[in-house]
Amino acid sequence: MRILSSYLEDRWQAGQAPNSTLYNATSEEACAEVSSKGLDLAAALAYARTRGGPTLRAMTFAQRAEMLAAMSATVHENREELIAMSVENCGNTRKDAKFDIDGASGTLAYYAGLGRKLGDKTFLLDGDQVRISRSKRFMGQHILSPRLGVAVHINAFNFPAWNLAEKAAAALLAGVPVLSKPATATATVAERVVQLWHERDLLPSGTFSLLCGSAGDLLDHVRSLDCIVFTGSGDTAARIRGHANVVARNVPVNVEADSLNAAVLGPDVEPGSDTFYMFIAEVSHEITHRAGQKCTAVRRILVPEALLTDTVEALKDRLDGAVLGDPNESATTVGPVSTPAQQRDISAGVAKLAACAERVWGDPDSIPDSGFYVAPQLFLARGGVDASFVHDEEIFGPVATILPWSGDADEAVDIVARGGGGLVTSVFSDDLAWSQKVLFGLAPWHGRILWGSAKVHDQSTGHGTVMPSLVHGGPGKAGGGEELGGERGLRFYWQRTAIQGDTSLLKRVLGSLDA
Ligand code: NAP
Repeated sequence: MRILSSYLEDRWQAGQAPNSTLYNATSEEACAEVSSKGLDLAAALAYARTRGGPTLRAMTFAQRAEMLAAMSATVHENREELIAMSVENCGNTRKDAKFDIDGASGTLAYYAGLGRKLGDKTFLLDGDQVRISRSKRFMGQHILSPRLGVAVHINAFNFPAWNLAEKAAAALLAGVPVLSKPATATATVAERVVQLWHERDLLPSGTFSLLCGSAGDLLDHVRSLDCIVFTGSGDTAARIRGHANVVARNVPVNVEADSLNAAVLGPDVEPGSDTFYMFIAEVSHEITHRAGQKCTAVRRILVPEALLTDTVEALKDRLDGAVLGDPNESATTVGPVSTPAQQRDISAGVAKLAACAERVWGDPDSIPDSGFYVAPQLFLARGGVDASFVHDEEIFGPVATILPWSGDADEAVDIVARGGGGLVTSVFSDDLAWSQKVLFGLAPWHGRILWGSAKVHDQSTGHGTVMPSLVHGGPGKAGGGEELGGERGLRFYWQRTAIQGDTSLLKRVLGSLDA
């Protein structure tokens, strides 16, 4: 049996028994074991702070960029091996696995490009000098410097490579060493990615640690200048935020959590039009892609009552093309979900949903005998918008619900807002006045909005695709965090400091730091 190890204090270490078991999502056979018991996490954090931090801070953005570029190239060169692992452990089809692996290498490459542009600096100025007194000589200047601690990254099960890499890219480029903890259930992929980086000696001593297995007492040892970046469920986020040591030391926590993402079809959209088919393609893709295990997947579909019949028929037609089955088969478009716990949670959620909505497509009983399968399903909430379950609970699988409504723009905003804040919503319309109302109304509730229209029907990057150059995160239920977004993604790892002094001295001293 493969035993996963952690990379702490520059060496691979396995924890003590008892181990947790990881499964092949298709055969349900055990594929690996892992434990973090007995690992000295206080020492691991101290090592990263004292060895990795100074090394990274001494490197320029351009040097950090070259490290990220090499990390990206390594993931890309080994993508076939990583895809095969992802098919086995996560149940992803090859196409779904590529999304994770290529997302990882793509995000690292993007941040490498940004680092090259920032060039031979180690610090950044934030804005220009600010006049703060009568005299033009006494001025203020904000500077951004890397936090002196460790970036503790805690990741969800569904994107073992991308989650690891996107957080690593931003932290390392910002100049902060990383201790990354993948979700236990799918940690095989994350462990292999980090092995590949260390085998090639890409990461200087102490700059990148990996903790496989449960978090153990990790949070007891974080310090004030460390930070935590978390992706996962709202419940775990609340536990991390409320951890006594995290609270006592005011350790900043960035959270990406649950999100009841929506797609809204405008009342102006003609069935059969480009905008209509863009909407149908996006929504059906979001239901089936990665078996619905995407933080950005569409869970609520708002359809004007007048367009309901055409929309339901078009979605059913499109979803009929989905093939649920063994992810190793090339004809399969939807594999199993990744873990037995996910399968149980989704089934429980579907049972609750069925009490307030009618299933209009998909057969929950039509699944292979073994494997953690969940059949894709489409529901219709008649009397719709009041089905509170639909707005409260995220079913993290291939399930979405149509909510018929009047088509009114203000009402659409109110309905989507019942989700309590989300990562992304898509709006499909060619009516400028209607779209303007909906976009401005939805913006405070979201980190990202995709506006689908005839002009971009064949060019969009997609509702569910997180772009490294754009913000990923959302308010309220979605966690209130923010990742990526180009240089914005580095800001969580920096301290902003206002320095007051003589204008020319500031220019000479800070100018040289920034030069
Ligand atoms: P989860 O159960 O909350 O676990 C997430 C991570 O937290 C795992 O690494 C887990 O470790 C760790 N963890 C659990 N308890 C902890 C504790 N007390 N202290 C420190 N770490 C702890 O979530 P999941 O099952 O992996 O992911 C599913 C959920 O994540 C879904 O609800 C989905 O909405 C959300 N999600 C959000 C995003 C986003 O970007 N917003 C992306 C993906 C998923 P172990 O695995 O070792 O328990």
